[in-house]
Amino acid sequence: MPHAPHSPPLAFSNIEDVAVELRRRGGRFSGPRRAVLEALFAAKGPVPADEIASGLGGKLPVLELSSVYRSLEYLEEMGAVRHVHLGHGPGLYVLTGGTEREYLVCERCHEVTEVEAHQLDPLRREIRERFGHEARFSHFPIVGLCANCRS
Ligand SMILES: [Zn+2]
Ligand SMILES: [Zn+2]
Repeated sequence: MPHAPHSPPLAFSNIEDVAVELRRRGGRFSGPRRAVLEALFAAKGPVPADEIASGLGGKLPVLELSSVYRSLEYLEEMGAVRHVHLGHGPGLYVLTGGTEREYLVCERCHEVTEVEAHQLDPLRREIRERFGHEARFSHFPIVGLCANCRS
């Protein structure tokens, strides 16, 4: 999968908000795009594309995987969706809703901690000052040991 350019997160609270913004930018709000958004709103957390295509395991209509990928790519370019690699598998997709989220993953128990990006800004500043590197943990998480596994 090519990676979409990182556009700012789009603020929205429901599917119609996304539809309005999509049309404002001259995009079509096609059936697959709506269906993918419905699945992401219904999902509890980040989900893989094939789970979206399966209708979250049968709860929603089944979609064609290639059109799910195309819709996800478009929605990601808009800033409505992000994908994150929380393990060795494929990327998992999640709605932004205007908030950039970053992740901490425990390499022992695989617990995932979601944080708002601004909470990691002090760490980002430290890395930038020492190495000139602008760090992001929204695409790949910070991997280490959670508080439970450390103790
Ligand atoms: Zn990726
Ligand atoms: Zn752990």
